[in-house]
Order: sequence, then structure tokens, then C-alpha cells
Amino acid sequence: MNTKPKGLGSLRTKSEIQRARTSETDGMPLRPNDKLLHELQMYQIELEIQNKALRQAQVELKESRDRYVDLYDFAPVGYLTLTHEALIIEVNLTGATLLGMERNQLIHHRFANWVATEGSECWNRFFISVLQDNERQSCELVLQRGHNSVFHAHLDCLHIKTVNGEHLVRIAFNDISEQKQAEEALRIAAIAFESQEGIMVTDANSVIQRVNNAFTRLTGYSAEEVVGRTPNLLSSGRHDKNFYQYMRATLNEQKHWQGEMWNKRKNGKIYADWLTITAVTAPNGEITHYVGTFSDITNNPESLAEIHRLAYYDSLTHLPNRRMLFDRLRQALAASSRNKHYGALLFLDLDNFKTLNDTYGHSIGDLLLIEIAQRLKANLREGDTEARLGGDEFVLMLENLSENTHEAVVQAGLIGEKIRDAIALPYIIQGLELWCTVSIGVSLFYGHEASVDELLKHSDFAMYHAKNEGRNGIRFFDPEMQTTLVERGALESDLHHALGRGQLRLYYQIQVNNERHAIGAEALLRWVHPERGLILPEQFIPLAEKTGLIVPIGLWVLQTACAQLRDWADNPATSNLQLALNASALELRQPDFVEQVRQAISTTGINPALLKIELTESLLVANVSDTVLKMNALKALGISFSMDDFGTAYSSLAYLKQLPLDQLKIDQSFIRDLGDSPSNAALVQAIILMGRTFDLDVIAEGVEAETQLEFLNLHGCDAYQGYLFSRPLPLEEFEAFVEQVDAPRNATTFNPDRVKNNYAQFN
Ligand code: C2E
Ligand code: CA
Ligand code: CA
Repeated sequence: MNTKPKGLGSLRTKSEIQRARTSETDGMPLRPNDKLLHELQMYQIELEIQNKALRQAQVELKESRDRYVDLYDFAPVGYLTLTHEALIIEVNLTGATLLGMERNQLIHHRFANWVATEGSECWNRFFISVLQDNERQSCELVLQRGHNSVFHAHLDCLHIKTVNGEHLVRIAFNDISEQKQAEEALRIAAIAFESQEGIMVTDANSVIQRVNNAFTRLTGYSAEEVVGRTPNLLSSGRHDKNFYQYMRATLNEQKHWQGEMWNKRKNGKIYADWLTITAVTAPNGEITHYVGTFSDITNNPESLAEIHRLAYYDSLTHLPNRRMLFDRLRQALAASSRNKHYGALLFLDLDNFKTLNDTYGHSIGDLLLIEIAQRLKANLREGDTEARLGGDEFVLMLENLSENTHEAVVQAGLIGEKIRDAIALPYIIQGLELWCTVSIGVSLFYGHEASVDELLKHSDFAMYHAKNEGRNGIRFFDPEMQTTLVERGALESDLHHALGRGQLRLYYQIQVNNERHAIGAEALLRWVHPERGLILPEQFIPLAEKTGLIVPIGLWVLQTACAQLRDWADNPATSNLQLALNASALELRQPDFVEQVRQAISTTGINPALLKIELTESLLVANVSDTVLKMNALKALGISFSMDDFGTAYSSLAYLKQLPLDQLKIDQSFIRDLGDSPSNAALVQAIILMGRTFDLDVIAEGVEAETQLEFLNLHGCDAYQGYLFSRPLPLEEFEAFVEQVDAPRNATTFNPDRVKNNYAQFN
């Protein structure tokens, strides 16, 4: 029989059922049993279909549930469902992991078990408030992870009421520990930034980006005043280039530098600070910023010792410096007036230090000074003071010498000799054997007879005498020197009035060429003192230089010389004479020197080619480039230059070549013993040759003898000046002298016999 209902497997869709219905009824009428059977079949089919849909729905439901469970479990946040009693009834995997528990260890336990103790009260209050409200609420809590660690959690909570009236709380939470830490770090950084230490942040180019309040307090500069500028504005000028170079190199290499530094506040005050600089680097190692922190240590006891050292000791030799010496000298004077003992001040100046320094370089020079300092220390008694004033000058202070003048002199003299001999022993420095001698000036002190300044001046003056007497010697300050010093003081005060009272004069000394024709003159200064009579320049030029009076005096010389040239222009005997004047380094260093010369020329209307300026090599000691600049400017006006006293000072050929010179003037000391000293003769020849090489004229000064003139002439010297021709003469006599000699046009021929009386008059 084919009545068996078709299996579930064979009928699937509604259309199939429809077809089944129609095909079964097609054509023939159904009997009652058949009908029932048929309906049952239909019913069964329908059931089957429903069943199938149901199962399909079940599958779908399961899938969606699985999906939900996956999403729920593996969501990046923890989910919890709590009862109104705060019992956990659901938790996702993330939640369980965050809490460091298996899920079953959590279910039916109170959530409060995982709230860190300090947060439990806060949690209770919060939970009650969540239950009372239907709004979403959030809080931060410290939660327990497992049993031994905690984490910061952010909780979002929602109170819901289920269909069967249950009150539940759903919680989403996550670990915000890292974020918290970052916030904390920022907060700490912000607080640290406003600490007691001054902080300055710069970019890689040292441009200031940020400073803190302590910075403003310490330096006096507000943030607005410094941001965008560089730390240079704090520079005190007390550190040299090497200091900063070393700092930069250390920073580059070690990314870190610290040390003591002198800086300047906005109000100009200099202070010491302890500075730490740290380089901030990007992951690729590139420096992006520098952070500098510093504290004022001017009042910090630990650094006071260091500051004391810097203020009172010489940094090279660690001997006391001038300030410390003066302090001790004051105390020594007080002690001497109490105990009636003599003391002595020894002024030491090395004889050949400059040459050594120039020959072997400053670092050898420095080592030599250190060695000398050690020898001084080794040769003095405990209570004596050895100080370095700077350069190659040292001062020794001896105390508690005898009460008897004569004995004290002997004692000081013996110590002086011991020191002199110790210094004269050879030095081995970096494998070099060096020799050095010293000139010593001694002045005794007794109570407060002389002031500290006077004492130092006395021993300095005595040293100067020792030096003049041939070096490596010792000289005591004596009453004669005292008189000289007093006179010098008086002269100095008179000099202040000399210019205003018209006491200065220019004398003129003729210069001649190889045909003995007058080609020019040198203007030489004289001071006609109302009481002392004629004073020579070497007695007052040094004073004028020391006091700065040389500047107005030099201007007067310049203006007088120009006025003279203008007068001479009208006289054929003098109209072609070139006039040389002496300018000292201090004058040339005046910023408006060039302008003054320009004015002197234009107001007098002279021919600038007739004006010559004599300079000395001392000019080359400092700021050569400024000298060159000024000389070039003057040269452009048409003025010429002569290098005076050539050969006596240290001159670097490199410098000489830079200078727009026209003439070298061989120093008279070489001419004087030309006959006696073969080395001088060789030197003079060399200078003349050098003049040729550099295309410079060479003039010899101090020519007194015919033999000298012959030698010079033979070796190609161009011009001469000296007593052989004439002494420097006052204007009228100079003019008479020039007129008197039988002058061919444009030059004056010199005839010694005619001017013999000049010798008589000015010898
Ligand atoms: P100086 O520039 O080397 O001048 C040459 C000095 O040698 C002059 O001394 C001159 O009188 C002297 N003299 C010239 N011929 C002979 C000679 O044959 N034998 C000897 N033994 N000496 C001779 P004076 O006039 O006493 O000047 C001394 C120094 O004073 C000058 O040396 C110069 O450096 C300085 N001086 C003179 N006038 C001025 C001036 O107006 N301004 C400046 N800044 N310095 C001046
Ligand atoms: Ca001169
Ligand atoms: Ca000279």
C-alpha cells in the first residue's frame, strides 16, 4: 500500500504541501476515512514543518546566543550583573580575568569582596545611589585583582528592573591603572616643575621654551622675558669659551652635565648656581630638548668653600690672589703694630716669562707658573703668604721678622735670595728644559707706617729698579725711591693742568735720506714745567698713559702737528717735509680716533700725504683686527704709517703683514752698539732686508756716528734720524736750522758744522 504518509524527509516546503493537497484530491472524491487520514497526514506535515521552523529558529537562537556569549565574554570591558544585594550573578570572561578569578569563584559572591578596603565605603554609598536611580552612573574604584594586587577601575552602572520584578544592576568596568599612572606622573611633574629649584627647558637649539616660578625668583626674569631667547642672557662673563665648549661636548657625549656656574641676574648681580643639564632624546637618539635645573648656592654652606676659593685664590696656581693678599696684609700690619716686629713684602716679576710664553705656548707657560708657585711654597715658612697677582707677578708676605730694622733687612734679603735661587734652577716641563729668573723688590713694613696700597707700590717700584739693574736681582725700597715716588705723585697732579695751561710743546727732529737731504721730521713732545723746567717724555708719557691723559694730549699733538704742516706749506724749505707723530696704543683704541684725524686734516686743509703716524708693536698685543681696520681707514685718507722701535718687541710677521705699513723704524738700541755687537749688525741687516721684502721703507733712529751711517747706508737703509744730524729742536730753531742749511729744491742738505751750536744748546 501506498497510503503510508510520506516521510518528513520527503516533504519540505509549503508549496510541496500545497501540491500534495491538490494531487491527493485531484480527480477523485474522498471517502470519510480517507479524508480523516488525509487531514491527519496534512496535520502531520504541518507539524513537521512547524517543527522544522522551530528547530531552525532554535539553531539560529543558539547561534545568536553563542555570538552574544562570545561578545559578552570577550568584550574589552568587564561585565557584571549584580542582584539588589550586590551578589554577582553574571560576569563575563574579561570581568573574571580583570578580577583575577575563575567565574565560578565569583558567582553568588558579594562584589564588595573585590573592592579594595579603602574603597568599600565609597562603593556601598555608590551602589545604594545606583539602586535608587534609573540613570546610568559611574565611579572609579580600586579593585582587587586576585588576592595580592589591585587596579584602578572605572565602573559604569545601570539599575534595571526585570519582567519578573527583580532589581538588578549591570556593570561595565575596565582597568584604568595606566591612565591613572600617566595622570599621576603628569601631576607630579607639574608639582616638581614648580619646585624650589629653577628649571629651564630649551629646545635642541638652546632656545628657551619654558621656565618655572623658581627660575623667575632666582634670576629676576619672568617667563615672558626669556621664552624664545637663549640662556646667554644670564651669562656673567666669568667663564671663558673653554668652559662652555667643554660643557657642550660633555652634553653631547654623556647627555648630562653638572657643575657650578656664575650667572647674572636681571638686576646685574652675579650669583653662583649649581646647574644640572640633562639632554632629552627622542627614541632615535636625537636630542630634542635640554632641561636645566639650578639652585642658587651663593648662600649654601657646602658651596661657600668653593666660592671662597674662587674669590680668594688664583685658579691656576691655587695661591692666594690679590684680594686675599690684601686681607692678610691688613691683618699683618695690625699684628706688627701690636708685637713691634717687622714684616716684608716681596714683589716678584719673572724676567723672561713673556718670551717663554710666546715661544712655547700658553699651556707650557701655565705649567711653569704652577711649578714656580710650588717652589715658592716650598721655600717659605708656614705663616708666610705667597700670592699671585696675575700674569707672572707674585707677592710674598713675610711676618714676624726681627724687631730691629737692620736685622729685618738681612732676614728679608736672605729669604729673597733663597727664593731667587730656587726659581733659577732649571724646570723640566713636558720634556722641555726651561730656565727662568726673577727680579725681586722688597719693602719692609712696621705697624701702620704705610698703607697696604703704598706697600705694594713700594715693592713694585723696587722690583722695577731690580729689573733695570740687570734682572735676577733683589732691590730694597729705599728713601731715594720714596722721593721719586712722591715726586711722581706731584708730577701726576701737575700733568692734569699741563695741557690747559699751555705747558706742552712740540720739538722737531729732522729725518734725512741717503743724500743727507731733509725729508721730514719727527714731532716729539716736551713739557715746559714752570718750576722744573723742561721735562722729557719718558718722565711723563708713562704717567699720561696710566691716567688716560694721553688721549687729550695726543689730540693736541695731532692738531698742533697738522697746524704746523699747514704753516710749513707756504715755505719752500719746509713745504715738502713729512711730519711724523707718535700715537700710543691707548689713543688708537679710541673709537673716534679716525674721525679726529680726519677732522684735523680737513680743518687745516693740509696734504695728508705729509702726515705720518708712528706706532709701536705694543699695539699688536690686543685686538689686532681693530687696529688693522683703523689703520686702513686712515690709510684711505692718505696718511702713512711707520712701525716705531722696530725689533724690540715680540712681533709676529703674520701680524705685520696684515698692517698697511709704509716704514719700519729700526730701534736706536740696535744702532747704538752697531760697532760692538755683531749680532746687532746682523739684526739691522735682517731688518733692512725684511723691509725690502715687504716693500717698506727703512729708517734708522739714534744715528750718532758717521760709522753707523756708513754701515746703514752700505746695507741699503733709506733714511736716518739722530744726533748726528740734529737733536729735537723747538719750532723756531728747527725752522732756522732747515732754512740755514743750503737747500736744493725740495730737500735740505745737512751740514754738521753749521749747526754745531745746536749740540751745545740741547746736549
Ligand atoms: P721715540 O718715538 O722712539 O722717539 C725717539 C727718541 O729718541 C726721542 O726721545 C729722541 O729725542 C731720541 N733720539 C733721537 N735721536 C737720538 C740719538 O741720536 N741718540 C739718542 N740717544 N737719542 C735720540 P724723546 O724725545 O725723549 O722721546 C722719548 C719717547 O717718548 C719717544 O720715543 C716716544 O715714544 C715718546 N713720545 C715723544 N713724543 C710723543 C708724543 O707726542 N706722543 C706719544 N704718545 N709719545 C711720545
Ligand atoms: Ca717715534
Ligand atoms: Ca723710536
